[in-house]
Amino acid sequence: MTDVTNISPRDKAEILAQALPYIRKFHGKTMVIKYGGNAMTDPALQADFAEDVVLLKLVGINPVVVHGGGPQIETALKRLGKKGEFIQGMRVTDAETMEVVEWVLAGEVQQDIVGLINQAGGKAVGLTGRDGGMIRAQKLQMVDSSDPGKVHDMGQVGDIVSIDPSVVKALQDDAFIPVISPIGFGENNESYNINADVVAAKLATVLQAEKLMMLTNISGVLDKAGNLLTDLSARQIDELFADGTISGGMLPKISGALDAAKSGVNAVHIVDGRVPHVLLLEILTDQAFGTMIRSH
Ligand code: ADP
Ligand code: MG
Repeated sequence: MTDVTNISPRDKAEILAQALPYIRKFHGKTMVIKYGGNAMTDPALQADFAEDVVLLKLVGINPVVVHGGGPQIETALKRLGKKGEFIQGMRVTDAETMEVVEWVLAGEVQQDIVGLINQAGGKAVGLTGRDGGMIRAQKLQMVDSSDPGKVHDMGQVGDIVSIDPSVVKALQDDAFIPVISPIGFGENNESYNINADVVAAKLATVLQAEKLMMLTNISGVLDKAGNLLTDLSARQIDELFADGTISGGMLPKISGALDAAKSGVNAVHIVDGRVPHVLLLEILTDQAFGTMIRSH
């Protein structure tokens, strides 16, 4: 972490003043933040994240947090002697895994984040997609990426049918910071495990968010040689999918990001969650950390 104790008060005031144009531009706007990767497991980064979210809220920007929890789910499954299985970046979810997912995401991870934000001086409220009837889902039909005739049975992995954002809007209007676990409900009240990137992307679209920021555990989207791609167009994304450069958890992340960009979310970024205060850097300075996704 940078040592800022020796910066003079005059310089500090100057630095704060430089954020003014960004605060003015984004005042009243919604920012959907997918919280995942290292930023969610490293205590120092957790504290930075919570401070950033609270600061944004206090200057009149509306952060909405959607969290993942892959590593935490993995740990819980291991304790039960189960091993996670992934197909095309999505976790195969049998009934027992679904129970673990609900318990870990909504019970543990979400409440930890709520606690962190509240400790930093915010008023966070934890929700799942059930609350306020927010996320309706159905069983995902996962088509094989190389054989369109083949559909994988993913168990209780959900595909979003619709999002009703009214509960999120009501909380925002009341100075609360929503923290959302990516769990949806089906026609018969059954639960669905939905990839958090997919939820964040769809929510950003439905809320007509100004920005969608996906914090991850890597510097951004990398090309075949491992170099960071600072921005990506839809055509480039098609090529990276086709030649296998994008795989695993990056697949749903980029598909979601592209959908959001095409549906009118102004700025969509996959950002390096390992950078301290990356949210403030992205929103209140001209620095960028990661990959920007373009709509065309
Ligand atoms: P999270 O959802 O918490 O951000 P994921 O593991 O689901 O984390 O997704 C990020 C991972 O995607 C990276 O750590 C990396 O292993 C993988 N990945 C696959 N292809 C790429 C790529 N082209 N560029 C960057 N990461 C990639
Ligand atoms: Mg992921």
